[in-house]
Amino acid sequence: MDTIRDLNPTTGECLAEIDCAGKNEVEAAVARARTAWPAWRALSIDERCSLLAGGAKRLGERATEIGELIAREMGKPLQNGLGEARSYAKHVPKELEEVRAALAPQDFKGPGSSTTLVREPHGVVAAITPWNFPVGMPLGILVPALASGNTVVLKPSEHVPLCGALIAECFGADLPEGVLELLQGDGATGAALVAADIDMVGFVGSRETGMAIMAAAASGLKRLVLELGGKDPLVVFADADLAAAAEVAVQHSVRNTGQVCCGLERIFVEESVLGPFTELVLEQAAQWGHGDPMARGDAPAAPLGPMVSRAQRDKVAAQVDAAVADGARLLLGGTVPAGPGAFYPTTVLADVSPEMTVYREETFGPVVALISFDGSEAEAIRLANDTPFGLGANVFSGDLPRARRVAAEMRAGQVGVNRYLGSAPGTPWVGARHSGFGFLGGVEGHRQFTWPKSISE
Ligand code: NAD
Repeated sequence: MDTIRDLNPTTGECLAEIDCAGKNEVEAAVARARTAWPAWRALSIDERCSLLAGGAKRLGERATEIGELIAREMGKPLQNGLGEARSYAKHVPKELEEVRAALAPQDFKGPGSSTTLVREPHGVVAAITPWNFPVGMPLGILVPALASGNTVVLKPSEHVPLCGALIAECFGADLPEGVLELLQGDGATGAALVAADIDMVGFVGSRETGMAIMAAAASGLKRLVLELGGKDPLVVFADADLAAAAEVAVQHSVRNTGQVCCGLERIFVEESVLGPFTELVLEQAAQWGHGDPMARGDAPAAPLGPMVSRAQRDKVAAQVDAAVADGARLLLGGTVPAGPGAFYPTTVLADVSPEMTVYREETFGPVVALISFDGSEAEAIRLANDTPFGLGANVFSGDLPRARRVAAEMRAGQVGVNRYLGSAPGTPWVGARHSGFGFLGGVEGHRQFTWPKSISE
């Protein structure tokens, strides 16, 4: 049997060794979820939501424990891990309200008949999730899937198994047996889960894994929500508020040590302001140092921890090294620090060009990649869309109509105009093109955990 070695990316210490669930255990967990489904579906949505609200309360009560676990398992600074646990504990009750509203039956009148549209849960949902937001990512699937009347088998990332177990404990405590099952394991366990007798996969992770899941799900026509990677652009025109744009450029390239799906990966700057903009970027970047994510005491904690693993760090270092070998200018960082752990410094690269892997492939590390362009609207749009991904995109210009025209042509699910993207509550999280298939949140997202059924009299 394979084993997960759950490593602390700050120290290299092994936090736990956990056996990966094999085919038999996967099938047994799915069978328990299938057995539990009819009774769970038969509850009213109010009853289900009230049980899930209990899980959110427990999550809030255990936020400190979870925050520390996040810091130890994936290296997020303690304050940020605590913030993640607390904000999701607060968010779940609001999301339950949204699900309730999205699934309310709708009445339609026709000539001589009336139809009620109700929403039926699919059955057993596999929730397969990544490590970069160890609380937020599993909850993004669990909460709408369970509230809609599905049962769920959760397989958290092999990098954060203890966080996954704690979430399952908080939410599973009030639920009938089999409604929320937990499986630990790596990609092989995930693949066995997709192949098992499930009805839907709610997946958040890389494009490559998403493609493998889509292929594997085809033979059973299993429903899919896939939230995948990105290569988000920021376009900065010369007439923009350069200081504001530089702050956004750096913060959203490097926060969470660059491990954010909608992090900025390509910054296009009008060539006439490249010099002053680069200076502003370097000033900002100097504020993003790294350090022990568990730091406590008087000294302020560093804003960045290590990356999740040495393998992820080495991938980022290889992209940066290759870019420099191909002519990019290294303005800051770019050297793997000595010592244990998976640290990588905030790095600024200029003269990045389209042939480089750092331009083409998701970097998922603390790298600010600067690329100049001629300032034309058409070129800005072409470059922003010069990727198969379509998660987020951002544009800054003092000419608001121009910024809006560019935003309208950007092929991405979320676009920020003179600010970093971020949608108002109630809107779905959308991966367009290679960034996904299906949505999460909002009316459109919540309804995907159900199918519409019309009953006419
Ligand atoms: P990953 O694809 O390597 O793994 C994600 C999950 O899939 C893990 O639980 C893993 O064990 C499982 N898995 C791996 N192979 C599998 C297979 N063949 N079948 C079934 N399951 C399998 O991704 P990761 O490294 O954990 O996460 C980083 C990626 O997630 C990045 O690409 C990032 O952009 C993306 N992400 C996207 C969003 C979004 O909302 N679009 C949010 C967060 C992260």
